[in-house]
Amino acid sequence: MPPTPEATDARPQVRPATEGWQQKVGEDGRPLLQFASPRRGKPPVHWADLSVEDRVAKVAALALPAFRARQLSTHYFTHYTADPAEMTDLPAARRDELVGAMLPPLLTEVRRLTTDNGDTIKFLWRLFDGALVESVLMRYPGRVTLCVSSQAGCGMNCPFCATGQNGLTRNMSSAEIVDQVVAANRALARGELGGKDADETTPERVSNIVFMGMGEPLANYRRVVDAVRTMVTPQPDGLGMRARGVTVSTVGLVPAIDKLAAEQLPVTFALSLHAPDDELRDELIPVNSRWKVDDALDAARNYFEVTGRRVSIEYALIKDMNDHAWRADLLAEKLNARGRGWVHVNPIPLNPTPGSIWTASEPHVQDEFVRRLNAAGVPTTLRDTRGKEIDGACGQLAAADED
Ligand code: SAH
Repeated sequence: MPPTPEATDARPQVRPATEGWQQKVGEDGRPLLQFASPRRGKPPVHWADLSVEDRVAKVAALALPAFRARQLSTHYFTHYTADPAEMTDLPAARRDELVGAMLPPLLTEVRRLTTDNGDTIKFLWRLFDGALVESVLMRYPGRVTLCVSSQAGCGMNCPFCATGQNGLTRNMSSAEIVDQVVAANRALARGELGGKDADETTPERVSNIVFMGMGEPLANYRRVVDAVRTMVTPQPDGLGMRARGVTVSTVGLVPAIDKLAAEQLPVTFALSLHAPDDELRDELIPVNSRWKVDDALDAARNYFEVTGRRVSIEYALIKDMNDHAWRADLLAEKLNARGRGWVHVNPIPLNPTPGSIWTASEPHVQDEFVRRLNAAGVPTTLRDTRGKEIDGACGQLAAADED
């Protein structure tokens, strides 16, 4: 008889439900999820919300020639400025009017926290309606990554995630998403991110974006995709980034994953799986009540087939909950059943959130989890947890304004 899963790994099985976590349920008895953005006022329309044609039309409506649109785009997308005083190539008499109409302020910096050696900055932003969101800027050797928010709050209700505990406030607009990158580039240009090599002379800008801040990007599909298009459009009409440098991470909204695959936008795709078995994932990721582990993995595999881009599986290792050796084996089996060379796994030790009853797996357990996947032929690397000390690590973004 084959050994039972438990026999190969004698550690206990902790479950969200037995630890006091109570799943909120809707009127239909299913886990409560907020897919629709609550009705609230919309942020002002901004240059970064518009197509190139619409920008020209808006400028024309102010009786200005089309080349003024290009100048304004250059200021915003190439020089990262929204300050009329810096726009000396625009007619002085029209500058304030033009900037006021096209580049309304979207993000007000409330606070920033920096790590000791300065290579990570967490920004807390206030939006026009008082909603708070965060982004995290991180320097790594050879790249600068910005973790952006796509919603104020989140409706996916994952029990281990700080953002998930506070519900969805509203969707962010495309420009609110893009402006986080522009603001980060502005900070970089001013030399505000530390950790730079002494011999580094290339101008600094954000090279990688991860949609791993607040929110479920695929629940705000249209605005996120529009924001990504603006990020990858060449300067001066967009930020001129590489699509493969942009990672869209999702809890597993299967129809939206299929739609993203068909966008002709070869961004990197990441699936937050966190458990290979429905029994546990039903509790850990409430959206699993709609789309099961196999549905999500099939959609991830399809993303690879359509785009040719290798996908990542995210897996927060939680002590005695999802870190058992048999789960590493089951994950490898499910991934290999869908082919080879299409996926890699990125486990990350859980960042305990305030008041959390769960904690990260022990290092030797993490190592064993990684080892088993690699041994089964699934490339697996443990992700670092940057920004932990400033509550800037994955899942810690709660945007509490204690001041
Ligand atoms: N909603 C999207 C993106 C936001 S979170 C998603 O679910 O993918 C980005 C990643 O951080 C996800 O993989 C999420 O599961 C993970 N995460 C959330 N809380 C975490 C925590 N406390 N520790 C480690 N990772 C966490």
